[in-house]
Amino acid sequence: MLLIEEFLDNCYQIAKKIEETSLNELIEYIEDNFDKIDDPLLLDNEIKQKLSEFTEYILSSKKLPIERALKRLQQVSGMVERFKYNYLTSTLECSDVPKPLDTPIKYAKGVGPSREKLLKKLGIETIGDLINYFPRDYEDRRKIIPIVFIRENEKVTTKGIIKSVEKIKKGDLVIISALLQDGISQVVLKWFNQEFKELELKQLINKEVYVSGTPKRGFFGAIEIQNPEISLSNSPEREIIPIYPLTENLTQKTLRKIIEDNISAVCNYQDVIPNEIVEIRKLLDIKRAYIGMHFPRSSFHQKLSRKRLAYEELLLFQLALFISRKNVEKIGGIAKQLSGQLAEKFVNSLPFKLTNAQIRAHNEIRQDLMSPNPMNRLLQGDVGSGKTLVAELAIIDNYEAGFQSALMVPTSILAIQHYQKIFNHLTNLGIRVALLIGSTSQKEKDKIKFALKNGDLDVIIGTHALIQEDVHFANLGLVIIDEQHRFGVKQREELISKGKVVDTLIMTATPIPRTLSLTLYGDLDVSIIDEMPPGRKEIKTFTLKHTRAKEVYKFVKDQIIENGDQAYIVYPLIEQSDQINAKAAEDMYEKLSKEAFADIPMGLLHGRMSDFEKNEVMSKFVKGEIKILVSTSVIEVGVDVPNATIMVIENAERFGLAQLHQLRGRVGRGSKQSYCFLIVSEAGEEAWDRLQFFASTTDGFKVAEYDMRLRGPGEFFGTRQHGMMDFKVADLISDSELIMLAREDAKWIIENRAESSIIKKVFELYGDRIKLLDVG
Ligand code: ADP
Ligand code: MG
Repeated sequence: MLLIEEFLDNCYQIAKKIEETSLNELIEYIEDNFDKIDDPLLLDNEIKQKLSEFTEYILSSKKLPIERALKRLQQVSGMVERFKYNYLTSTLECSDVPKPLDTPIKYAKGVGPSREKLLKKLGIETIGDLINYFPRDYEDRRKIIPIVFIRENEKVTTKGIIKSVEKIKKGDLVIISALLQDGISQVVLKWFNQEFKELELKQLINKEVYVSGTPKRGFFGAIEIQNPEISLSNSPEREIIPIYPLTENLTQKTLRKIIEDNISAVCNYQDVIPNEIVEIRKLLDIKRAYIGMHFPRSSFHQKLSRKRLAYEELLLFQLALFISRKNVEKIGGIAKQLSGQLAEKFVNSLPFKLTNAQIRAHNEIRQDLMSPNPMNRLLQGDVGSGKTLVAELAIIDNYEAGFQSALMVPTSILAIQHYQKIFNHLTNLGIRVALLIGSTSQKEKDKIKFALKNGDLDVIIGTHALIQEDVHFANLGLVIIDEQHRFGVKQREELISKGKVVDTLIMTATPIPRTLSLTLYGDLDVSIIDEMPPGRKEIKTFTLKHTRAKEVYKFVKDQIIENGDQAYIVYPLIEQSDQINAKAAEDMYEKLSKEAFADIPMGLLHGRMSDFEKNEVMSKFVKGEIKILVSTSVIEVGVDVPNATIMVIENAERFGLAQLHQLRGRVGRGSKQSYCFLIVSEAGEEAWDRLQFFASTTDGFKVAEYDMRLRGPGEFFGTRQHGMMDFKVADLISDSELIMLAREDAKWIIENRAESSIIKKVFELYGDRIKLLDVG
């Protein structure tokens, strides 16, 4: 039982080493296995002949002097590759003019009013949609497995004779069962609630059929195949069968047939990828790729088709990013002049030493500031890795060069906290810092705006308030955006547009794989802080049922009394209403301060409080006057209180992993041992698994990757980026290698083939969005 492609791949593997032993091995392999090849493609005479020629060529090298024989061995990989491209893929002759892709689906062949309705349910409105409706999976029916070799949960196609058919009723359930035998063994086939099968099957009694499906353990422990597909043996579908996502009343067979009948629409597609790239990346042409998605001739064909289409999507996307980036670059930059002395002075005044990663990131930023091109840099570092300090260094350098800086953050709590820290640090250096948030008094706002415009302020820290129309700068030179995922692209652009020669630094703690950040942020340069300040202890995370909350509270209380620790207790967003959430936190605050934590000073923080009230509570917590802060997830980002060592998260199952990671990052910021408790109220198995996984690692990258797999990148990055990355075929996680290649090639195209038709396609596809795609 050997497929041609398996045979060829094995030859390829053996021939990789060019030496006498592998030549002998190869010859032996061919002699032993050529006869075992059993592949429906052998029915094709041309293929059969070419395969014989190939093996003959190798086998006859036995008679040759070793030098020449080895030469033949060297050719094997190329021959195998060509063979696979030529014979293990298929294409379509395009003779007639195909129906245009935007033809409404009702005009497709084989589609009447009722099918039209069903297809529309699948989102298929046009013929173009139809041929872009790709299988979710494939079933490989090229190999026929004898019944004895059938194994649980492994999809198979087997062959046998239908011996008997039976109908069983169990309450509402109708089971049709049939017995399949093949000389050696037998297996039961079962269909649930498909009464019509009975008649169909009875006509097949004593006939030989092919059966495809996934064997499962039945009620009594025997293996059975449930809801298999059946075909008569004289028309065996020994092929790779596409499995489409379906809707009720539409069968695989029907949909397959409709697609097959209309596949000629692929003749509308032109290859837009430049030839040079097609060649080095070994891409299939577009027609072959569409055929291979729906009706692959081999696994090789299917894989390469997927690669081709995924690659094209990624390439178009990368091109869109490059083009929009170019638009930004037109703004131009300035080579800032600075000695770095001021930053040095600042670093020397700190009570700790910078980590190497911080030094590296700062140097990269400084290079950017001093270069004539505008900076577009992403600073990535896990929660608590010390990004704020790097931002401060950038601000100091920028100040030394004679420019103003703006730091924009997503919440007022964070703005205030940053302001306090940065104000303390920078005032000593003679740098003038101010805070601008929504609740800043009108009088104060006017003063600040006036000062910014006149150059009497050097640094402004704030929330969205910074991007108001009437905020003007004398000479804005640096924009820093903290926790970038909280902002929209537009907001960033608005801030950047307030200066003429702005360098941009975007900071994020959402740890995303490098390939992904490239996809998301295009040509953004990336600095990574991959090192925590020394002396940090790994946070211990525990997952507990809510019935054990009391134990947690007791632990918290003991820690506070015995060690002088501080704690957060966080409640999730339960509804899309601040009011209701505030209430939940409020109620718990009341309850806890009367019961579990009766003698312990507590504070309450939620989104409905005024900035003033929030600030009051936060500063009491910072000073240690409050020991426990009960809060909604407003403290999620950025809050930095090193003495807080315990994070209790109630209803943890309601949080996403990225959010949990952010919350957990609020502790473990000093040298004390820190703890995170996930209290779970109602969680299914899946939620438990998720939380258990989270408890098992503190590595933000791992958490993010798990989360992305779980929710898909669109969800993961929130609705803002959604749509942009709605790839049909490409997968941002598993295609990371392709992403890198696409990025490289996009750059090459922009530099060398700026006129090619692929650019037109980029605009067709991304059009007006191109402007918004830029800079993360
Ligand atoms: P994040 O990267 O999450 O924004 P922060 O900038 O808030 O992290 O820093 C976390 C904590 O670590 C802060 O209390 C900060 O003062 C401290 N910190 C930053 N850099 C160092 C360092 N090199 N050594 C010791 N502590 C540091
Ligand atoms: Mg931060």
